Amino acid sequence: MLRLRLLLCLCALLIPCATFAQPKTVRVATKLVTPFVMEEKGELTGFSIELWKSIAQQLQLKTEFVRQTTIPDLFAALKAKRADLGIAAISITSERGQRYDFSQPMFASGLQIMVRHQESRGGGGTMPGFIKVIFGRSVMEMLGTMLLLCLIPAHLVWFSEKNHKGGFLEHTSYLPGIWKAYWWAAGTLGAQADEMPKGYVGRFVAVFWMFVSIVFVAYFTAAATASLTVEQLQGNIRGPEDLPGKRVATTRGSTSAKYLQEAHAETRETDTIENAFKSLENGEVDAVVFDAPVLLYYASHSGKGTVDVIGKVFREENYGIAFPQDGPLRKEINLTLLKLKENGTYQQIYDKWFSDTSKP
Ligand code: GLU
Repeated sequence: MLRLRLLLCLCALLIPCATFAQPKTVRVATKLVTPFVMEEKGELTGFSIELWKSIAQQLQLKTEFVRQTTIPDLFAALKAKRADLGIAAISITSERGQRYDFSQPMFASGLQIMVRHQESRGGGGTMPGFIKVIFGRSVMEMLGTMLLLCLIPAHLVWFSEKNHKGGFLEHTSYLPGIWKAYWWAAGTLGAQADEMPKGYVGRFVAVFWMFVSIVFVAYFTAAATASLTVEQLQGNIRGPEDLPGKRVATTRGSTSAKYLQEAHAETRETDTIENAFKSLENGEVDAVVFDAPVLLYYASHSGKGTVDVIGKVFREENYGIAFPQDGPLRKEINLTLLKLKENGTYQQIYDKWFSDTSKP
């Protein structure tokens, strides 16, 4: 009897210990966003994944990753309790904060702009713009008007020269005479007068027409320069103020997508940021707006030489770990995050992923 009692007591002591020793499994929702979450040889890696693994190790938690495609999918998984927390490059915003809880900031980020590399834009420099200007409506209208106006000096010169002995027209009859006089008037307009009328009226008309030609050339140069400048300014994005009306790609449901909609840009939302990069490189969009560290990483790795990250970070954001509201894990995770910052682990992970990327 005593033995049985002892055995029961021992069991009562051991059973809770055994359950306590079993590491708790946490379902972690995440989404690919290089270099925070990426896949290598079938394994998840990246800054956020490594940071999470360190936190999990400290708290002796087992992780089961729940992969999602977009940020809204990730939040939906938290809401439906299909995941206990979410980690990727999730920006902490007031709107999200109303429906979810966040850890304290784990990474300082912000929005920036990426465009195609200057030299690769348009290939032959200003050639397409130049052709557009030459065949543009305003230049065509101006040329047409001037060619019509040439008929006036052509007639005056023909009239004066046909009656002048030794005039420069070989034929004095109307059609061949006018043809030659018109050719002279058009040539003079382009500042290429090769012959001069001999009659007084003809000479007077010639001098006057030469002045007209100077003004015409000056006017034409100014108009062409102005159109070229406008063409270049329209094609260039230098900062967030240039985004309205431009075709800009970013990921679906991201903070960048919200910013772009408010800025009245023509937003193209893709599932992955890689697809946004592709549409920029293919010329389908004029820019990509996204998280600065992600853009800088791409520009210094696979996008090197084909894209440029321009301007400053124009909206500061912080990343955090997201939790369903009032979840049990937040406090311990926050404390562990602080510990990892204090003991240098955070810095080690940071240096591993960002030492060769210029800081935003
Ligand atoms: N920081 C962005 C956000 O939270 C990331 C978007 C994404 O990974 O698609 O909205």
